[in-house]
Amino acid sequence: MLSASLGYPRIGANREWKKALEKYWAGGITESELHAELREIRLGNLKVQQSYGIDVIPVGDFTYYDHILDTAVMFGLVPQRFGWDGVNVDLPLYFAMARGNKGAAACEMTKWFNTNYHYIVPELKGLTPKLTRNRLVDAYREGNQELGIKGRPVLVGLYTFLKLSKGYTPEELPGWIDALLPLYGQVLRELAEEGAAWVQIDEPILSTTLEADDLVHIARIYAELGRLAPGIRILVQTYFEAVDHYAEVVKLPVDGIGLDFVHDGGGRNLQALEAHGFPADKVLGAGIIDGRGIWRVDLHERFDLLGRLRQVVSDERLIVQPSNSLLHVPVSAEREAALDPALRGALAFANEKLEELALLVRGAKHGIESITEECVASVWNREELGRIRGGAASGAAGVSALGPEQFARPSAFAERLAKQQQRWQLPLLPTTTIGSFPQTPEVRSARFKWRKGEWSAERYEQFIQAEIQSWIEIQTKLGLDVFVHGEFERTDMVEFFGEKLAGFAFTAGGWVQSYGSRCVKPPIIYGDVAFTAQMTVQETVYAQSLTGKPVKGMLTGPITILNWSFVRDDLSREEVAYQIALAIRKEVEALEAAGIGMIQVDEPAIREGLPLKRENWPVYLNWAVRAFRLATSTVQDVTQIHTHMCYSEFGEIMEAIHALDADVISIETSRSHGELISSFEERTYDKGIGLGVYDIHSPRVPTVDEMSGMIDRALRVLAPEQFWINPDCGLKTRKAEETIAALRNMIEATVQARAKY
Ligand code: GLN
Ligand code: ZN
Repeated sequence: MLSASLGYPRIGANREWKKALEKYWAGGITESELHAELREIRLGNLKVQQSYGIDVIPVGDFTYYDHILDTAVMFGLVPQRFGWDGVNVDLPLYFAMARGNKGAAACEMTKWFNTNYHYIVPELKGLTPKLTRNRLVDAYREGNQELGIKGRPVLVGLYTFLKLSKGYTPEELPGWIDALLPLYGQVLRELAEEGAAWVQIDEPILSTTLEADDLVHIARIYAELGRLAPGIRILVQTYFEAVDHYAEVVKLPVDGIGLDFVHDGGGRNLQALEAHGFPADKVLGAGIIDGRGIWRVDLHERFDLLGRLRQVVSDERLIVQPSNSLLHVPVSAEREAALDPALRGALAFANEKLEELALLVRGAKHGIESITEECVASVWNREELGRIRGGAASGAAGVSALGPEQFARPSAFAERLAKQQQRWQLPLLPTTTIGSFPQTPEVRSARFKWRKGEWSAERYEQFIQAEIQSWIEIQTKLGLDVFVHGEFERTDMVEFFGEKLAGFAFTAGGWVQSYGSRCVKPPIIYGDVAFTAQMTVQETVYAQSLTGKPVKGMLTGPITILNWSFVRDDLSREEVAYQIALAIRKEVEALEAAGIGMIQVDEPAIREGLPLKRENWPVYLNWAVRAFRLATSTVQDVTQIHTHMCYSEFGEIMEAIHALDADVISIETSRSHGELISSFEERTYDKGIGLGVYDIHSPRVPTVDEMSGMIDRALRVLAPEQFWINPDCGLKTRKAEETIAALRNMIEATVQARAKY
């Protein structure tokens, strides 16, 4: 039995990777210095994996930006607008594809399956693929020559690659397979010549919902690759879900299949394996350590699972591995000494997971007695964690005691609307913003000084109040109808609330890559989430005291908090979502009691939690909607609940959007306006709605005419009486001058629209 790693975090234990890239982009280091720094990180990553005794170490999973971009570049798939010479993709061109340059817009970026990692979407239109540089040969050779590590190269599977690409029609798919097959074949042949015995080909697309056609294509691809490159053994790796067509997948003409036994819809891969067996001529890559969560396992329990696998697959054909690439977890928990030891002891980031794998293999080889000490420790770790969790039962019981009335506003929307209009007397096409105003360097430096203790809490609060006051004045001068306080006191919309709620912990170095050099440090929900003290009332009430216009209270919703955190694994996500909802509800009620009559509960991440398999969407959406309603339903009819969502692919989840029952929703639209409008066409949406009339991602100030155009288009489908006018999203990344100029134009466009409608 062997242990394997499927991929290791690129970013370095101290985000050295991010820092090197950003220095290079800023002109602070040369290209060769960048190569040297990244090489050191890359080799360091291999050495760490080796030091944990991992037998099969991946090579080629390292990247300068993103592994899908690497694959596109390896196959010469550079969109025409970049004016490529067709020979060599140099570093400036590579980064231009990811980030854009003066002449050409960046390629689109989107979520990697159901993770928070984002990849660069390959654009195939009008292109002919050709092999540029076989980066896997480079990676294999480097590991072999420098460290004597005979790594297993990792390649994005041909079918997954095509399915994630755009710029071709369904009819063109077989042609694209034909075009790429010989190139994949060549990559594999060259690897075989270099001495690589195995290659890991990632086909996570096999874990999504597939059509019969897909399986035919996949079977053809692997039959052909086997023929083209007989000198190398192929392991087809799946992850993030169970495979739907187990029998077909394990029959693929390859030498090994990797399956995820952690994220497999409650044991579906295991059930299929036990029911159908596993081909005796193949190797099973068994993902039994969670590659996405951050908790240490109970080694006994994992050993039992391994025992069940060993009943079906003999040890010589079994490789134990994380469920997926460790790219999705932080590097090492070693730095987290400041955490409660009970929590710290229960954390397993990438390195700790490798340690667990090595232990399981040792236990399998020498008997479980050989790891008794570690088994005892693993149980103890989890018990200690249970102790500080605050008795999971209390939270769960609190949630299960909730009656249906907790999830619904007392009156129907029409009745609420009448009362709200009576209260607010808003003009036709009311104007507002999404919440945040510019987080200037001064704001950030003030927070930094306060956190370091250089500034007293009072001084910091005064500073924040001055910001609020100045932006209330700006909003007054601009003539907006519904104000916000500006969120100057917040760093991040999840962290801010997490820091004030019970049940959350924050790591010192728990960074994971989100996209490119951008890393996030998700909070950890380790215990029962509970409200401890008011979080936003002071700033909101202060802002309201300065104006007669309504100031919206501004909260982050339960699903967004959940989806942007690492979550405990002893309760369902649904239960945790309800706990967060109950805590947020207390804040909603506190705002209402303090006289705040409009409360916005943001849910930009609702789509991010969608399960990989469509058939599981309704269940998720049902509890996500219930969590939102639990947070927002106890207010009076005259209190107006707003919500906000980013991204625009709403067609498929329109029903859930309706079901939120928010009085007003604002949605980002600029990136696919037409499509979004048509989603609303189909289902006569009746509540208040603001489709963002300008893109806040660009510093460019949009003209009055552009915004009028957006308003006119929206009002072809939506009634003027229900329409709100606002930007796409929060303005915290913009400069003050840009923000004011853009909002001035937005108000002018509104004045013109009011005269027309
Ligand atoms: N209220 C938040 C803000 O304006 C919303 C951010 C978001 O949608 N991501 O910053
Ligand atoms: Zn947004």
